Amino acid sequence: RKCIVVITGASSGLGLATAKALSETGQCHVIMACRNFLKAEKAAKTAGIPKENYTVIHLDLASLESVRQFVDTFRRSGMPLDVLVCNAAVYLPTAKEPTYTAEGFELSVGTNHLGHFLLARLLLDDLKKSDYPSKRLIIVGSITGNTNTLAGNVPPKANLGDLRGLVGGLNDLNSSPMIDGGEFDGAKAYKDSKVCNMLTMQEFHKRYHEETGITFASLYPGCIAETGLFRNHIPLFRTLFPPFQKYITKGYVSEEEAGKRLAQVVSDPSLTKSGVYWSWNKNSSSFENQLSKEASDAEKALKLWEISEKLVGLA
Ligand code: NDP
Repeated sequence: RKCIVVITGASSGLGLATAKALSETGQCHVIMACRNFLKAEKAAKTAGIPKENYTVIHLDLASLESVRQFVDTFRRSGMPLDVLVCNAAVYLPTAKEPTYTAEGFELSVGTNHLGHFLLARLLLDDLKKSDYPSKRLIIVGSITGNTNTLAGNVPPKANLGDLRGLVGGLNDLNSSPMIDGGEFDGAKAYKDSKVCNMLTMQEFHKRYHEETGITFASLYPGCIAETGLFRNHIPLFRTLFPPFQKYITKGYVSEEEAGKRLAQVVSDPSLTKSGVYWSWNKNSSSFENQLSKEASDAEKALKLWEISEKLVGLA
């Protein structure tokens, strides 16, 4: 049978390119988990994904209620779950003031981390039940959260501190909209959320890989400088960023190539190792990359897991 793959944020950028690449293998059916139903349908059509290869189900990660509803709807469809890809993200680098999810968490960490945390925790049961031979849970990471790289050292750097802002619920009612308890900074909030994504993958691996055989992985697909992720940036940045990445840093990768990379992590028989953060070298071959000190801190991963459980109502 076909492999059933749920991809969050498959209505544009990397998620859409991955859905297309997986559809082209002829072996996958993609569940596009998207907040804008019509946009997702149109995107699938424009990308040329045949109708029988995808289903759109509504999911707004900025609402925990919506996450739970998505899980219900998916279960009612009767389809098994073989692979979950947590891909959606928001990036608000020019925001002066924080904005919030339905539950009042700062939007970047609330969407990119907490929404996905609840989704992945709930769907773990479904993954366990699937009889598919190579079950996987993939959380898209980023170089920008990794302070052991050049890109990760562009200020403001990611830093979760002692997680005091997260404990306080990520809003300035109780403490601060930032995980480390500091002043709001949209670019930093995004990077922090990516560190959370990479820590969450490792904690999943530690807790569930042996028991379930599920592969848990994260990746940095390369700098896809033209995706919607940069839609909130200033126009000059949006003009200069793609050529800068192409010719100066040489970290540029097209949406199509990035989609193929993520599709490999979803279905390539040689990428089944669990607990790995994948990257690609200049010849586009994959390798196991090192995470920064903070993004591989086991103690922080555990603390993040426990606080996140409380915030999303699992503990
Ligand atoms: P895009 O902005 O093109 O795609 C992001 C997707 O997330 C969109 O489909 C968007 O939906 C969706 N999304 C945003 N908020 C929500 C929400 N509340 N609920 C459901 N879906 C939501 O960006 P990319 O394709 O670049 O980003 C995809 C992933 O790749 C992210 O995890 C990002 O961190 C990562 N990444 C990107 C890099 C890059 O250079 N671009 C580099 C490294 C990692 P909608 O279409 O409705 O807006």
